[in-house]
Amino acid sequence: MTPTPASQKLFDRALAVSPGGVNSPVRAFRAVGGTPIFMKSGSGAWLTDVDGKTYVDLVGSWGPMLLGHAHPEVLAAVDSAVALGTSFGTPSEPEVLLAEEIVARTSVDSVRLVSSGTEATMSAIRLARGFTGRDKIVKFAGCYHGHVDALLAEAGSGVVTLGIPGTPGVPAHVTADTIVLPFNDRAAVEAAFAEYGAEIACLITEAAPGNMGVVPPAPGFNAFLSEICTANGALFISDEVMTGFRVTSAGHWGVDGKVEGWSPDLVTFGKVMGGGFPAAAFGGRADVMNLLAPVGPVYQAGTLSGNPIATTAGLATLKLATPDSYGRLDATSAELQRLVGEALTAEGVEHIVQNAGNMFSVFWGVTDRVANFADAQEQEAWRYKAFFHAMLDAGVYLPPSAFECWFVSAAHDAEALSRIAEALPSAARAAA
Ligand code: PLP
Repeated sequence: MTPTPASQKLFDRALAVSPGGVNSPVRAFRAVGGTPIFMKSGSGAWLTDVDGKTYVDLVGSWGPMLLGHAHPEVLAAVDSAVALGTSFGTPSEPEVLLAEEIVARTSVDSVRLVSSGTEATMSAIRLARGFTGRDKIVKFAGCYHGHVDALLAEAGSGVVTLGIPGTPGVPAHVTADTIVLPFNDRAAVEAAFAEYGAEIACLITEAAPGNMGVVPPAPGFNAFLSEICTANGALFISDEVMTGFRVTSAGHWGVDGKVEGWSPDLVTFGKVMGGGFPAAAFGGRADVMNLLAPVGPVYQAGTLSGNPIATTAGLATLKLATPDSYGRLDATSAELQRLVGEALTAEGVEHIVQNAGNMFSVFWGVTDRVANFADAQEQEAWRYKAFFHAMLDAGVYLPPSAFECWFVSAAHDAEALSRIAEALPSAARAAA
């Protein structure tokens, strides 16, 4: 591993004042070992750390940086907004503009802005329970919907990365109403609805999961979920915090930007729609959304919700995320998937690359398609550790876990791809 003394120094100081030295667990490099890299600046596809080393970034702040870092037009919009004041605690124009953009692009009738994806899913579930008067919720193993108490059951992302089985701190009665099912398993969903149908408030799913690695839904699976929810009077919540505005300009996971014959009752957004600032949203059918306070009795609120800087950054990002740019993102991602696949095959490393639009990840030591969390956990995640560090040494920043999605940006150009291509052969050897 290349020494990173300035990162090490900061990490030592951070360890003295923060649990694990980080403010979000996966950043700690626990799954891959070594010292987390402290980044100082970003520009386009590149990050520069506090030791002055540059990296091609394939994390993109875990998804939000669709346009790359420090996009000049986003920065200019943010600068203008900051000059006017940073938070008013009143309604302001930028939040209306962002809400209009989301409503215009997606299937939702109206939207409530919040500050994180966790708040969005937590609030959507509360709303679904308020609307239906029922308590039970259905989720899929390996899907991560933020650190909402009731949803931290067999969750993906950092929960699987750190191998945390249940979740201390969440009372058993809080998850007693959470039914966890295997993803892509129609029979399991049918059986759950057959048994509990009249008690289920909602089913929540990642529209195309990226938190157990990338595991796309089988064709028609989302439509099936939508139908079975409707047939049982439950709401279907599509969690598009990761996929929203990442895979298509329409905000939703689907084919060519169209929702693939299914219509969620509620949708959650985050990441890209905040343009690198804390902004997220949940929205959906007007009759459901109108149950929210102040129109209805379901309470939900936030001091910084709809913050003018965050909404300005989000709007600037969405305006630049044209249908054209998604075509380029898909092409960049496909090229990268090809390069990774070729390098691993050349070294005889068994693997499968899976994608959902431009989101993708590699499963190590497996050759059959990964359809659910159990399949994902079969992978030889230890191979990733060696691969990750070889790439890091060569100046490519990957997610520090085999269970996370790799993200490209519109700024990943030929220069960025050639840095990755140069790094791949020795990283593939390290994983063999
Ligand atoms: N939902 C999905 C699908 C996510 O990927 C995430 C975060 O990675 C969340 C919800 C939670 O979002 P946040 O980290 O902004 O709370």
